[in-house]
Amino acid sequence: MAINRRDLLIASGGALTAAMAGRALAQEAQGQPLMGNPTLPLPPQQRMGWAVVGLGSFAVGQLMPAFGDANRSRLTALVSGNPEKLARLADTYGVEHTYSYDDYDSIVDNPDIDCVQIALPVGLHAEYTIRALEAGKHVLCEKPMASTSAECEAMIAAARKAGKVLGVGYRVHFEPTNQAALAMIRGDDIGPLRHIRAEHGFQADPENWPPHRWRLEKQLAGGGSMYDIGIYGINTSLMMLEGDAPMSMSAVYAYPKDDPRFREVEGGVDWRITMRSGAVVSGSSSYCYSPYHSKQTYIGAKSSLRMDPATTYYENALWHEHGGRGTQIPAGAPYTQFAGQVDAFSEAARAGRPHATPGEMGYRDIRLIEMAYRSADQGGAPVSLEGI
Ligand code: NDP
Repeated sequence: MAINRRDLLIASGGALTAAMAGRALAQEAQGQPLMGNPTLPLPPQQRMGWAVVGLGSFAVGQLMPAFGDANRSRLTALVSGNPEKLARLADTYGVEHTYSYDDYDSIVDNPDIDCVQIALPVGLHAEYTIRALEAGKHVLCEKPMASTSAECEAMIAAARKAGKVLGVGYRVHFEPTNQAALAMIRGDDIGPLRHIRAEHGFQADPENWPPHRWRLEKQLAGGGSMYDIGIYGINTSLMMLEGDAPMSMSAVYAYPKDDPRFREVEGGVDWRITMRSGAVVSGSSSYCYSPYHSKQTYIGAKSSLRMDPATTYYENALWHEHGGRGTQIPAGAPYTQFAGQVDAFSEAARAGRPHATPGEMGYRDIRLIEMAYRSADQGGAPVSLEGI
């Protein structure tokens, strides 16, 4: 059947009438007020500008993507010793400013950089942190803070002299599952903590995973498994024991002495800290564990918490153990910890107030690890932690 122009106009007019009749039955579109007074992301030009230094596996895999979820921080500069990688990553992320290690000090002239994140091997943390502070930038340095407590002191002194904020990248403080555990420990259900057990380790594999190579060289790593992975047990346990203080420590080395991987740094340590309250934290760290271990247990006077895994990037889990039962506590996606950390540091830097995990905390932890080594060197003799 042929349809002429007049038929088409009649047909479309009918459709319009039908649509209008339907609309008359529905509500009119109306604007509504902004609900719940939300914290809005800052517009890009008002965010703190960040430079990431050292574009290795952690920087590329976790730190740089975090800026995509951040609300108060933006990635403005990259620093690397590899020009091809630097150009490719800058292009991919639309980062305007790039530097090599040789022209790193010229960040002083760049107003787009407020904060610097150090993601280099540990033996380079102190030098690159101090150079950034001297360039007038705030610094978030990756864990562990430095190779020695003397280096930590120099970093803290440089931050004070520059009047800038210095933090250590203890991301777990911003991780929802650990925040939920801390909230429960602060509440009534767990009671005073009596014992914490911390187990952290993996199988160091320098042949197949290049980032493990420098971790076995003392000059670049500072120390062994305690520096890289055991530090999670120390720092996270002390986070849960807020208000308490470590009083004494003993430790023994725990790894095969004939393993060629451990010529320069230790492959494992079993350690124990007695707190002022009488609570005990006992932990182990190792480069000889399979599979990857990241476990924390908090035994309280009334009930207990178990976290397995406890401090990983994506999949931490928390159980409340009480009355013969274990209840899993949902807490939110662990990957938000990276953006949470960078935004919290941006806010602290903007306000000129200490970050939640300041340089002093990183210094404390390096001193505790030095004490663990001191005890282990004496076959496990207790060492005093008074004053740490
Ligand atoms: P990688 O070996 O993967 O990366 C280190 C990067 O540092 C290299 O890619 C390189 O970047 C740069 N670099 C400069 N000099 C050297 C050198 N002499 N040898 C090796 N690399 C050098 O290490 P990670 O990314 O695993 O670790 C980097 C830092 O991040 C460490 O401090 C580590 O403790 C910390 N970290 C923190 C984690 C956390 O969860 N908070 C997890 C993993 C690591 P380029 O080529 O761009 O110059």
